[in-house]
Amino acid sequence: MDGLTGRFREFVLTMRTSIPRFPPPFVFRRRSTWTLALAFVLGVVVPNSSAQPLRSESPGAESLVVRFIDVGQGDSILLKTSSGRGWLIDGGQSTRDVTQAILKSMEEEGLSKLDGILMTHPHLDHFGGLSRLVEVVEVGRVFYNIDVPAPTYQGFVKKLAARGIPYERVNPGLLDWGADVTVDVIAAKAQEEFDRELIREAQRTETPIEEYAESLLDLCGSSSTLALNLNDYSIVLHVSYGSFDLLLTGDATEEVETQALAQQRVPDGEVLKVAHHGSRYSSTRAFLDRFTPELAIIQVGAGNSYGHPHAESLDRLSQVGSDSRRNDHDGTIRLQVRSDGSYRISPRSQTPALPLE
Ligand SMILES: [Zn+2]
Repeated sequence: MDGLTGRFREFVLTMRTSIPRFPPPFVFRRRSTWTLALAFVLGVVVPNSSAQPLRSESPGAESLVVRFIDVGQGDSILLKTSSGRGWLIDGGQSTRDVTQAILKSMEEEGLSKLDGILMTHPHLDHFGGLSRLVEVVEVGRVFYNIDVPAPTYQGFVKKLAARGIPYERVNPGLLDWGADVTVDVIAAKAQEEFDRELIREAQRTETPIEEYAESLLDLCGSSSTLALNLNDYSIVLHVSYGSFDLLLTGDATEEVETQALAQQRVPDGEVLKVAHHGSRYSSTRAFLDRFTPELAIIQVGAGNSYGHPHAESLDRLSQVGSDSRRNDHDGTIRLQVRSDGSYRISPRSQTPALPLE
């Protein structure tokens, strides 16, 4: 074993063994406590907004609610199951506005806590906002796929440990998010593969492991020239509710899509959270032909420097007959899904997703 590899293993081992496993917290905070926490993080209680709140139109109805929260350039998706559980997939960038947007969506759905959070991959536009969120919201557990030995990421992991929030690795297969919804991890590359790739690239570029790992966290990574791309490790979730099928793809790359297709894990579905903010390198035609979305949601910030979404991706979506909605046009997008597979989209107003000619 060479010195670098040895040091890396020791570092990873220290990081992993220093994370205590706590039992799930069973403390149910009263609403007043949560409201105080909300006021604390915002500096004020949720400010008046000129936008219409996307409140449930029929709160008693059996339905799954999915909110694609407008967090600018980044991803954050809130699920509220028909039994009232709240799950968050990704948490946007580390800004006060992002925290405010997530808290506002939770409040509008009547959620005062989260049963769990899943990080699709450790890019800052997906996990950056979670560090502030876990300070003000009770969270049952946090799911991850790749643990990166980067100081910023490990700071978040230590915060979870300090707050007694279990930090759990997911593998391909079913997650138990309640009997009323089926959540299947259809892609999640192994930690061991990441560790090998990280050691190899750090050695090749003669960069200390921690420094190389930190450089991997850079937002979407699309501006990066690094050979190792965290998007290749993105979790892809298949969420089913009755006959409704939703795919949440994180920043999955063509490699991830191709592998999921080869393993016959891609269903025929209704709504697609478009991978990697509409990057041209994701949403391949073969993948779209298999899933055949009716509706594509693109989580993207206005005027982002990455050129997201790319015209080629939008073209491919329209070629398979999919309608598209974007956070930079519509703000937060809310779906209310009934068990017969029908769903309602808010806001109703639709701005064309395709660039105007
Ligand atoms: Zn991203």
